[in-house]
Amino acid sequence: MTHHEPTILHRASWLAPVSTPPVENGAVLVQGERILSAGSHDSVAPQAPPGTVKVDHGSAALIPGLVNAHTHLELTGLEGLIPLPQPGFPAWLGKVFEHRAAFGIESMRGSIRRGLARLAATGTVLCGDINNGSSLEPGPNGRGTHRHVFFEVLGFDRQDLVDAVGPDLIGAFASSARKSPSMSLAAHAAYSTSPEVIRDAKGWCRRTGRVFSMHVAEHREETRFLRDGGGFCRELLHGLGRWASRWTAPAMSPTAYLDRLGVLDRQTLLVHAVHLDDDDWEIAHRRGVSVCFCPRSNHNLSAGRAGISKALEMGIVTALGTDSLASNTDLDLFQEAAFTLDRYPAVAPEAVLAMITLGGALAIGQARSFGAIEAGKSSRMLSVGLPETAPSRNDLVETILLQGKRGAWKWVSSCTSD
Ligand SMILES: [Zn+2]
Repeated sequence: MTHHEPTILHRASWLAPVSTPPVENGAVLVQGERILSAGSHDSVAPQAPPGTVKVDHGSAALIPGLVNAHTHLELTGLEGLIPLPQPGFPAWLGKVFEHRAAFGIESMRGSIRRGLARLAATGTVLCGDINNGSSLEPGPNGRGTHRHVFFEVLGFDRQDLVDAVGPDLIGAFASSARKSPSMSLAAHAAYSTSPEVIRDAKGWCRRTGRVFSMHVAEHREETRFLRDGGGFCRELLHGLGRWASRWTAPAMSPTAYLDRLGVLDRQTLLVHAVHLDDDDWEIAHRRGVSVCFCPRSNHNLSAGRAGISKALEMGIVTALGTDSLASNTDLDLFQEAAFTLDRYPAVAPEAVLAMITLGGALAIGQARSFGAIEAGKSSRMLSVGLPETAPSRNDLVETILLQGKRGAWKWVSSCTSD
């Protein structure tokens, strides 16, 4: 690419910018990796400078590249090794431990590379990727799927962040984070991470202006443990030699507990959020957290069914994630979207499309560049082919999602050479 990249005018029968309603006979003017202008063809075409290359996508909808707000690409190598569905979280976790023991750091890095390739092959431009230290470099910038790294800390018996992570790894993380805004901390979960470590991790994110993420209320074993300190989570901690005798159960829900720790705000992303009652949703709304749902992973672990409609009704920023290939069959957000449409008939297709684009970008703090087709944002879009009988405005977005599930889409090239 040169400094003077050619401008390209993409036209299609529909444009679905996501941040604004769909536009019939839409166009997007792009230069390299950036969008210059988007809207109706009549309004955008006159802005194209002389020499602009014109690409007509015909009967198709242009949509933003997809955003997967919760992955564990490290675990891509576990694909197909754990039969799904599992009868519950405890059974599943036992299988993960069994298989992961054979996994070295090099195979985790290979897993991440293969996972990124899988994401790119399924239309994903950006992912929020949980990592346990095998690869603390975000990126790549440019053509591949961009990886926002959530370095995950845990340690129920640990006193603070350095104690939990170790001085070497925290140093490597900090130096990588100084170079890139695409680096965050995540705490694993309330049953695996001490309150001090959760607060420290959130504190670092606050000081550096980054999104903090945490698994919350994924399964009944977690809600039970916070209520009375017993059950599977306690046995697990004992078995791992991580039990902390000074800890007492807060006797409240995971959401209320995190609120008491002071770690819920607009820059906190709660993942799974399956077992939240009305009071919990009220807290989530009041604090302005965002939520990433992983409905297929929850289904595959027999963990429960999240209140997606409730979160949408309350106006909470919502995203979708595939979670890892240890708990899902693919990393394809179109499949996740189709499953959501199928299992949540009350959720509108427009909401689902927003969850796999703008909602995800907002949730992981990358909405300046991703999630919508607008001037200044990434030009990495998808062209989704529409069927012979063109959809009406009313069923456009559902058609887009179903065509995506069928694989009837392609990347919109930002270069004239490919
Ligand atoms: Zn996860």
